[in-house]
Amino acid sequence: MPCETKSRFVVLYGSQKGQAQSIAEGIAEEAEDHGLVAELSCLNQDEKYNLEKEIAPVVFVVSTTGDGEPPDNALQFVKRINKNQSPDHYKHLSYTLLALGDTNYANFCNCGKTIERRLQALGARQFYPAGFADDGVGLELVVDPWLEGLWKAVKEASSKMASVRNDESEANVKDSAKEFLGLTQPDVQLNLLSITDQRSQEAVQTDFHNVPSAPSTSSGQNPSTFSGRTEFVSQNDAMQTKDEGIPHISSSSPLTNSVPPLSQSSLNVPALPPPFLDVTLVEVDAPEQNVGPLKETFHEVPISKAVLLSRGDSVKTALLLELDISTCPALTYQPGDSLDVLCPNRAEEVDYMLCRLGLKDRRDHRVHVALRKDTKKKGAHVPPHIPQNVSLLFLFTWCLEIRSVPKKAFLRALVEYAADGTQKRRLQELCSKQGAADYNLHVRDASLSVVELLTAFSSCSPPLSLLIEHLPKLQPRPYSAASSCLRHPGKLHFVFSVVELPACFGRPAGRRGLCTGWLFDLIHPGIVFPGKTESSSSPAPAKAIHVSLRPSCSFRPPSEQSVPFIMVGPGTGVAPFIGFLQQREEARKRNPEAVFGETWLFFGCRHRNGDYLFREELEGFVASGTLSHLKVCFSRDGREAEEAVASAANPRYVQHNLLLYRQQVADILLRQSGCFYVCGDAKNMAKDVNETLMEIIKTELHVDQLEAMKKLAELREKKRYLQDIWA
Ligand code: FAD
Repeated sequence: MPCETKSRFVVLYGSQKGQAQSIAEGIAEEAEDHGLVAELSCLNQDEKYNLEKEIAPVVFVVSTTGDGEPPDNALQFVKRINKNQSPDHYKHLSYTLLALGDTNYANFCNCGKTIERRLQALGARQFYPAGFADDGVGLELVVDPWLEGLWKAVKEASSKMASVRNDESEANVKDSAKEFLGLTQPDVQLNLLSITDQRSQEAVQTDFHNVPSAPSTSSGQNPSTFSGRTEFVSQNDAMQTKDEGIPHISSSSPLTNSVPPLSQSSLNVPALPPPFLDVTLVEVDAPEQNVGPLKETFHEVPISKAVLLSRGDSVKTALLLELDISTCPALTYQPGDSLDVLCPNRAEEVDYMLCRLGLKDRRDHRVHVALRKDTKKKGAHVPPHIPQNVSLLFLFTWCLEIRSVPKKAFLRALVEYAADGTQKRRLQELCSKQGAADYNLHVRDASLSVVELLTAFSSCSPPLSLLIEHLPKLQPRPYSAASSCLRHPGKLHFVFSVVELPACFGRPAGRRGLCTGWLFDLIHPGIVFPGKTESSSSPAPAKAIHVSLRPSCSFRPPSEQSVPFIMVGPGTGVAPFIGFLQQREEARKRNPEAVFGETWLFFGCRHRNGDYLFREELEGFVASGTLSHLKVCFSRDGREAEEAVASAANPRYVQHNLLLYRQQVADILLRQSGCFYVCGDAKNMAKDVNETLMEIIKTELHVDQLEAMKKLAELREKKRYLQDIWA
């Protein structure tokens, strides 16, 4: 008798920061509930899957990183499918794809789009419409409905593929496949689950019934082991958390309290992510070897100078740091390169977290992390950013991003550890479909950190294992090189402004960005102030930081010196262009006879006397002829009267100045084969500049929007329109 088998399908992910991976894992975990078996692999684990022979539906979940590049673990796969040319290569393949991206950046979802384009060019057929989720507005707006419709589509595709295989004779296979593939064109609707969806409500209610009382052990279900003893951490221990330098949150905060109608709604709460790690703490006598950051690819270099670039009451504090890289050949750089800076979590926040977990006294104990033998999590593995045998203090200082914005899966997991009923309900709301707007407002858009969330939800005592399972890697922060080593041999400059996050319901006092706040504190006593000569200021700080050069980029000045180019870099976005211009000035000195193309710089800031960064140096470039045109605008000067209308005649932002010089811009870009560079804020500026360029192309070439878009795409493709932007 034939036995009933579950249909299998394949889930492949490419993920840089773990979001695509966690969605793919979620799909694999949920598959069983839908009577399916998922085979989950990362795209770089090509020994685990074989698309050339795959006869089951394939689901891709991929993110995009940098300037539209694939994540590191999808790079080889993308190269492979780009190489393959046969239009029949994936004729047998039936796939769908979920792409994650951010519309704040150019090349939105580029990796997903590339994979989609190549799969289709190689004959693969889509069994369910691709989803393109935008982190700029909230991934869940697309991801949730896409996942909702996925299961029906996978089942249909699976059974159709099976029937094609089973029912048709050899001779008919070709026709049947055609018919099947025709039928499976997007016919699945992406519907949002309605609030009254019976099944989901039951699921929520089941969850409510299963909520355990707050656990009393440090790792949830697993007590911590110390030198063979088993020790329990009481909840009271874990809640001795107040007064650690972290501000209290009012108990009536809208972050922690819900109001009607949400408080009276039924909720569709996601499934509880299965725990998958066992964490053991071991007491050791020997002092820890590795007390600094993980050093594999990072180089420790001294800060030889720190200069305050902004002045007076400028809203943002901008600083230049000079690194002495003379003893570190691995840091040889070109203008346009950027470097990664390693920064630790703030000591008081690490202390707070350890207090909160009831583990402050065990900060020096070594952490051993292993997979739970009984875990239900598909494809579970110890996260690669968790080193073995480091101290708890090290783990929280250098490995875990405790400032990360809590994901909904984390909020869902925290529900189980909230002792207070109101807080438990609020956590359920924040991770539910119905609470999406509240999540966006109070958590995502406010950039609330995990530390701030735990402060606000004071009754939550999560185990250590939960934090290790959910917290992403503490990422190094990238900064653009702001110098040329022809001008400053053995030195590398970079510029940053100190990020100030405003107060919100979960953050009564506001806070500084992690890396920029840390760098500021590190150099504070040794800063050189403008107007003071270096010799008259305090000696240069002898501090050192860990940096590495980022993989080489294409954001470089034109290789031909005669090619004209335009640079757009307001605020700290001017940084790489200082490097471009220093390099150009040195080249001109060394080769005065050579022909150099025209250079334009569009700079903008708030006040001429506050944050006009590098003013003297830029004016010097103009005086020496290195910079042909410097166009600067000030968005706040002389605009106390808000009615002062910004326009090309009254430029306020860089894009207004671009419009003012539209003919020259068009000449360089469209008639002289010049290059166009943009650096700085991705959220507003880069988008506005892009739109302005589009306008210029439309009017100068007398073409419509579509043609202008094509022209811009062509410029990008030829690396003549380049962006180095950040959100
Ligand atoms: P974090 O602690 O990481 O906080 C930043 C977070 O705060 C972000 O999530 C942001 O969305 C959020 N945020 C910021 N302001 C607000 C607000 N008002 N309200 C709510 N949330 C807010 N930066 C430079 O200054 N100079 C450079 O040359 C430079 N070059 C870069 C090059 C590249 C290739 C990239 C990707 C980025 C670059 N950056 C540069 C940005 C830099 O890497 C850091 O992101 C930045 O300095 C902030 O780091 P932080 O750790 O201080 O802030």
